[in-house]
Amino acid sequence: MSDTSQEQSQAASGEKMVFQAEVNQLLQLMIHSLYSNQEIFLRELISNGSDACDKLRFESIGDASLLEGGAELQLTVSVDEEAKTLTVSDNGIGMDRDEVIANIGTIAKSGTKQFLETLTGDQKTDAKLIGQFGVGFYSAFVVADKVVLTTRKAGAAASTGVRWESDATGGYTLGEVELATRGTQITLHLKEECGEFLSSHRLRAVIKKYSDHITFPIMMMGEVPYTPEPEEGEDPVVPEPAKLEQVNDASALWTRSKSDISDEEYNSFYKSVCGDFEDPLLWAHNRVEGNQEYTSLLYIPTKAPFDLYDGNHQRNGIKLFVQRVFIMDEAEKLMPRYLRFVRGLVDSNDLPLNVSREILQNNKTIESIRSASVKRVLGMLEKLADKDAEKYMSFWSEFGACLKEAPGEDFANKEQVAKLFRFDSTHGAKGELTSLDDYIVRMKMGQDKLYFITGESYAAAKNSPHLEMFREKGIEVLLLHDRVDEWMMSYLNEYDGKSFVSIAKGDMDLSGIDGIEPETEEQIAEKKQKADAVAPTIERIKVVLSEATSDVKVSTRLTSSPACVVMGENDMALHMQQLLKQAGHDLPSSKPVLEVNPTHPILDLMDKEQDDERFKDWSHLLLDQALLADGGQLEDSAGFVKRMNDMFIALKA
Ligand code: ADP
Repeated sequence: MSDTSQEQSQAASGEKMVFQAEVNQLLQLMIHSLYSNQEIFLRELISNGSDACDKLRFESIGDASLLEGGAELQLTVSVDEEAKTLTVSDNGIGMDRDEVIANIGTIAKSGTKQFLETLTGDQKTDAKLIGQFGVGFYSAFVVADKVVLTTRKAGAAASTGVRWESDATGGYTLGEVELATRGTQITLHLKEECGEFLSSHRLRAVIKKYSDHITFPIMMMGEVPYTPEPEEGEDPVVPEPAKLEQVNDASALWTRSKSDISDEEYNSFYKSVCGDFEDPLLWAHNRVEGNQEYTSLLYIPTKAPFDLYDGNHQRNGIKLFVQRVFIMDEAEKLMPRYLRFVRGLVDSNDLPLNVSREILQNNKTIESIRSASVKRVLGMLEKLADKDAEKYMSFWSEFGACLKEAPGEDFANKEQVAKLFRFDSTHGAKGELTSLDDYIVRMKMGQDKLYFITGESYAAAKNSPHLEMFREKGIEVLLLHDRVDEWMMSYLNEYDGKSFVSIAKGDMDLSGIDGIEPETEEQIAEKKQKADAVAPTIERIKVVLSEATSDVKVSTRLTSSPACVVMGENDMALHMQQLLKQAGHDLPSSKPVLEVNPTHPILDLMDKEQDDERFKDWSHLLLDQALLADGGQLEDSAGFVKRMNDMFIALKA
């Protein structure tokens, strides 16, 4: 590729194509954000080359002819000092024309647009975000102002070679080229200021740092051997040419013994294999022997990928190897969905090499590896929570919402996962999360239920009128305000033998809890008297609100608010119903019960209200404010405002 005139004529004969808008945007951002970490381009290109070799090795299990022209899969890194180019090549699977267009020139990842919108313009932050997104092939443009890629698909004819060239200014040219061998060759025309990457010494150091564990040999040209001067009278010695030498260690890291692997090696293996920018939070490396033989190396990332909570998230996950041969990425059968953030690999000695996704569907070996791996991940998190609460909280803030999917998905491990949950509660300030175990330790004598409330936000949950009695009696309530919480709680019925009770649903009975004296006869009589006194008013309200409520009754849970809405035990919270309706779901609507506080002065005012129209307004106001306090939205908010203003005016008069 060093013949510039030949390149130009080939490029000129190629077809001009434009980059997808997102590629352009990403490219420019990358070039400007990653300049302080330029060397990672080499890791990315080597990782792609290694993936290409992995793919070919796998495909050749079924069709050995694909390896024609050289069975030893390897990568080569070479430089041309004069032309100021650096070339990374592999003899892996290669690409045909359509694949080049689809892979190099488009970004197929879901959520790319949203990702780009999250970028801030601050180079440091953006560099991190881009790292999480995955930099890949385009990082070549961080050090090069022109990149030429030639590739020939394994098994295809020499004439089907493809040549791709771009200077990152909006598009690329695509042409045909005759290539004698399969595989991909990427030539970087280095920028003036990136001359350091022409130094063999520097390149070897970068390869050792990031790519030592790549399982295929990475070759570089060695030094020209020293040729001694001939002694007098002797014939001159013919100098030996330089030879290709293997630069990397090339042993599969996970096959080595744990005690021989440094944290640094685990970290760099993670970054290169899982394509992350940051060190992982923690990992577990296990070799299992006996009935089943496999090795797993499982990592928990530090940061959640940007699309983790996007329904289509499918990235990376767990790679499956069989006897060190890479079989597939994203082996979703190896981890349940709620642990989709776990990265790493499983290398089995028991599966056949020609295993396919279909075979994995109902495979006993896979099932048992999966269930052991889940236990391992949960165990590792439990240990972290015990040993390093701060680090655990950083995990929880990134991945907690994912774990909350577990009760609905993994019945067998429900209890163990729930142990890992952390929630806001009335015990601490916002963000001082508690575990269920700690909640239980603080429970009052005689309390055998775990009380919680769900709300649209922390403020909505914390200020809910339903909490009044609990606050007064000093009973702690968990404040759940994540979107998944309502859904999760429909699967999580109990923990440690104690059932969960939503304080916003059904009737509430707190008798038997220490400090809550049974009511005296006097109190009961007084209550009855109050209830009797407001009974006619309640009947009138009931008639007015018959469409909107399923019942209106005297409340035992309010101390200061005039009213609250209560859902049936099996009904969904109102804020959730509204959310689902907005998202277009057709729900059977369940009407709330309106509970009123008989001691509140509003009830007195209503009792005295003779004007029927105004009584109607009072009743609607009572319901609407209870709905608002519950975090709900009003169907007729303008009506609410009008009634309220009319009421002010009437009171003034
Ligand atoms: P990623 O590797 O994260 O998918 P890249 O931008 O690095 O993203 O590469 C995009 C795609 O281009 C790869 O998924 C692969 O299909 C293809 N590709 C890149 N480099 C090579 C290569 N050396 N050989 C074969 N295919 C490659």
